[in-house]
Amino acid sequence: MDCLFCKILKGEIPSKLAYEDERVYAFFDIAPQAPTHILVIPRTHIPSADCIDKENAEAVSAVFAAIPKIARAQGLGDGYRVITNVGENGCQSVKHLHFHILGGAKLPENMGV
Ligand code: AMP
Repeated sequence: MDCLFCKILKGEIPSKLAYEDERVYAFFDIAPQAPTHILVIPRTHIPSADCIDKENAEAVSAVFAAIPKIARAQGLGDGYRVITNVGENGCQSVKHLHFHILGGAKLPENMGV
């Protein structure tokens, strides 16, 4: 499968590790949009949040269990934002479910158009 994040998981493309466990991998975004910008992904390939279902819910749950640990380890005690983009209108560029953790500064209130 030609998936960039699956290649990162296999070590075929380098990444800067932020966190990992048996279900979850987190790494620093290559083009950060905040002082701290981390991508959290399930090790299983799920194309987007639009594909979350009963069968893969455990992998997604593991991602959400990891997010507070990652945020704490990064010193994001003052708050942070978790975002997932979906599809064309959501501007999803990599078709492997990922959650952006953005923090390290006061973020803009506006998230829409
Ligand atoms: P999205 O646009 O929501 O699909 O997010 C994809 C994210 O992946 C973007 O923020 C990119 O900067 C990031 N990205 C793309 N390639 C890499 C890479 N090789 N290592 C780390 N982050 C990447």
